[in-house]
Amino acid sequence: MIGSAAALRSNFREELRDYRLLCSKAGGVTVIALVLMGVALDYVVYPGEQARFAFARVMTSVLIGLAVMVLYTNAGRRYVQAITFGWLLLPQAMIAWMIYVTQGEGSVFYAGLMLTIFAVGILFPSGYWQTLAFGLATVVLYYIACAAHPGGIQNPSQFYFQLILIFFCALASAVYTYFNEKGRFQLFRLKEELAHKNDELARINENLAQIKGQLLQQEKMAAVGTLAAGLLHEVNNPVNFCLMAIEIALEEPEAKESASLQECLIDARQGMQRIQHIVSDLKIFAYRQPGAEVEGRPFLFEKALDSASRLTAHELRGVRMTRELPPDTLVFGDEAAIIGVLINLFSNAALAMRKAGTPAPAIHTTVGWRDGRLHVNVRDNGPGIPSENLARVFEPFFTTREVGQGLGLGLSISYAVIERHGGVLFAESELGQWAAFSFDLPRAE
Ligand code: ADP
Repeated sequence: MIGSAAALRSNFREELRDYRLLCSKAGGVTVIALVLMGVALDYVVYPGEQARFAFARVMTSVLIGLAVMVLYTNAGRRYVQAITFGWLLLPQAMIAWMIYVTQGEGSVFYAGLMLTIFAVGILFPSGYWQTLAFGLATVVLYYIACAAHPGGIQNPSQFYFQLILIFFCALASAVYTYFNEKGRFQLFRLKEELAHKNDELARINENLAQIKGQLLQQEKMAAVGTLAAGLLHEVNNPVNFCLMAIEIALEEPEAKESASLQECLIDARQGMQRIQHIVSDLKIFAYRQPGAEVEGRPFLFEKALDSASRLTAHELRGVRMTRELPPDTLVFGDEAAIIGVLINLFSNAALAMRKAGTPAPAIHTTVGWRDGRLHVNVRDNGPGIPSENLARVFEPFFTTREVGQGLGLGLSISYAVIERHGGVLFAESELGQWAAFSFDLPRAE
């Protein structure tokens, strides 16, 4: 659907006004040239009147020139139609005067009047009723010129023939203008429709790119799941018996006596525990079952948001936290896991903004219901994410933090958590401006 018919008409009028302005200016210059070139006609038909007619032609051209100059002002732009109508009557008045001072209906200059009527219909984007009014005004001018001519109308049949001919010109020109106007509007409508279709196409392309990205992400996660399951199987057992062995060794008298041996064993234990933590983090990928019902219970998302803000209060010092929530936020799911997702999003944003030295760091959370699901958007005004990283932030172990500072698991775990809730977590960003993460949760039945 393109905009309403009224809006379309109003846009059309707007565009038409610009076009009229252009036509009036270009037409003005053309008519000035034709009026001045008319001295050739005076020379051929009325050589005796040449000086007087030349003066009239110059005066008419000056007046048209002035009208064209007015079109460059604001008022001129506004009243373009009235001004154009006014100056177009100038050459008609000039020709009528020439007919009056020469031969009345006997003058061949009535052809000039007809030429102007047709030129107006063809060249100017005026309404059909305006063209008709212009034609009728010309008929009146011609009538006055002949009737007032010294000696009156000598040859009535010739006079009426020419008068009716001018009138026919006016009619034909008005009909032509009517269809011309319709055609112009049709063209404009098609142009608008095309622009609208192009917008729609761009939107569809954007959606497709997003869906493609999501599918790719799901494929990646499935591969990570297989890898994690294998890793768990292979790593868990050796890590467990290593830990057990270290514990036993720590109890040995030699270890108790030698401080350096004890230190080595404690370091080894810490290392093993670290491996154990990573392995336990990987569990979420290994046993993921997309589409499976999430184990959980109804909870208020608003409460989860409060908890996450409280738990990250230390990291979020100096960050302006704002939110937009609907009155009811009862969702179904794993509250602790969702709090974990929010903590991850908040601390990532806080860290990115601190690292970039964002002047007035802020995080805005928007929450709203759509199609029976609660949609959450967490947006910061930090440095954003470069497009080449945008597709990678959910990859396990992808991080831009310094070595030892981040594992790069936060977002990938969050992704899996949201996936378990039947939703999608996705990232958007404008580099140097903002980064936003969105996800959705099911409504509690
Ligand atoms: P980690 O925080 O350990 O690096 P994550 O998976 O949580 O792991 O994040 C991965 C990467 O995504 C981060 O290293 C960072 O480059 C990028 N990132 C995440 N959130 C933001 C954000 N709000 N602004 C800028 N970059 C971000």
